[in-house]
Amino acid sequence: MSQPDAIIIGTGVIGAAIAFEMSKAGWKTLSLDRNAQVGHGSTAGSCAIIRMHYSTFDGTAFAWEGYHYWRDWADYLDLPEGANLAQFRETGCLVMKTEANGMLEKHMRNSSELDCPFEEWSGDKVVERLPVYSLDSFAPARRMDDPEFGQSNGRKMSGGVYWPQAGYVTDPALSAQNLMDAAKQHGAEVRTSAEVTEILTEDGRVSGVKLASGEEIRARVVVNVAGPGSAIINGMAGVLDDMTIKTRPLRQEVVHVPAPEGFDFENDGTIVSDSDIACYCRPEHGNHILVGSEDPECDPHQWCEDDVNYNREFTNQWTTQAMRYAQRVPSLGIPSKTRGVVDLYDASTDWIPIYDKSSLPGFYMACGSSGNQYKNAPIAGKMMAALIAYCEGGADHDAEPLQFELPYIKRTIDVGFYSRKRPINEESSFSVLG
Ligand SMILES: Cc1cc2nc3c(=O)[nH]c(=O)nc-3n(C[C@H](O)[C@H](O)[C@H](O)COP(=O)(O)OP(=O)(O)OC[C@H]3O[C@@H](n4cnc5c(N)ncnc54)[C@H](O)[C@@H]3O)c2cc1C
Repeated sequence: MSQPDAIIIGTGVIGAAIAFEMSKAGWKTLSLDRNAQVGHGSTAGSCAIIRMHYSTFDGTAFAWEGYHYWRDWADYLDLPEGANLAQFRETGCLVMKTEANGMLEKHMRNSSELDCPFEEWSGDKVVERLPVYSLDSFAPARRMDDPEFGQSNGRKMSGGVYWPQAGYVTDPALSAQNLMDAAKQHGAEVRTSAEVTEILTEDGRVSGVKLASGEEIRARVVVNVAGPGSAIINGMAGVLDDMTIKTRPLRQEVVHVPAPEGFDFENDGTIVSDSDIACYCRPEHGNHILVGSEDPECDPHQWCEDDVNYNREFTNQWTTQAMRYAQRVPSLGIPSKTRGVVDLYDASTDWIPIYDKSSLPGFYMACGSSGNQYKNAPIAGKMMAALIAYCEGGADHDAEPLQFELPYIKRTIDVGFYSRKRPINEESSFSVLG
């Protein structure tokens, strides 16, 4: 492509969704990724859980809207018959009621207001669905070397709230490839093994990018969707100074363990978010259980200097998470051979993403996804396409933020909620839960 209208840096699920939505809207887009394959950044390591509960109303509305695209995936993409599509498994998501989440009062209020279905479950109902579960309470979460690790605090879990339409996508990298294939149907182009090393400017606005090969590609619009590499790209563009919200790569370990013998977790299990033991889990193929961390205060954050040089081996964090989950499932066997995922979040200051313009005209960012924006990729793509059209049409989004209608749920949101210049959102959980 000699002259794209817009360059999109990153072919993860959000970058690919932006390419799809912009190309549908008539832009000639060129997506660049330094990896050899589309979708093989942090998207490939994602747990790809599609849930609706968030601590903020805006977060809930966005996620509830986001669910519908996964439900209608084939229709949304409109790829030719026989295309190999990522699968959305609607397993439901149970969230345990704890003091830390305010017994989910706020979450239920947000869902009620949005007509998003949920059910309250007693402790008995939890055990009926998950017979391997114990209702002993262990909060606060502890490290393994704490003498009180693994000892109940004497209380019992009172139950939880179940969102029946939640689920997960079985192959997140494939979902990004699906989006990119759909974008190509509208003329989008992609170049892999293409590393951006410089953001070019001319007359006070962005004018393109320079690649590691030395090649320069010109475009009036450049979008930073570099995942955990976003801060480096923002630094190249010189747009960090007016941002109150920063982004940083944060290392994460995700555990895969076999389900206890006799229980088919893959088919009869569900997603569970459990702040009492600071773990979330979901079914994983081969009747495994995937266990992620809800970032309790006792765990030091593993911030990384960049998104390339970090430890890709499991550490004792793996064992800590497996043992924490075994508090809830005492019959869990923990194999000596560690399996799972090590990857990076692009964590923002308040764990809410940035979907915004920047101080450099023509340069936009969709970043800071903080381990919780996979689910929102399609609607984030739509919103970014609308935001870019709004700003390129001459509007001042900083002064008069775009008001954007979420097409499925027919709610209008203020896109300023995702501003790079917002005050830190104190309603956030300041964790992967958003
Ligand atoms: C372990 C883990 C679990 C998660 N679980 C969930 C979950 O259950 N639910 C949920 O909603 N979200 C989850 N997330 C978050 C979600 O996966 C991410 O928000 C999402 O995948 C980010 O997509 P992206 O397109 O922004 O970035 P990425 O997929 O990271 O893509 C960015 C791309 O940019 C490229 N790039 C970077 N720098 C350059 C450069 N200089 N030149 C060229 N290319 C460059 C990279 O190669 C990469 O391919 C999880 C994330 C992780 C890490």
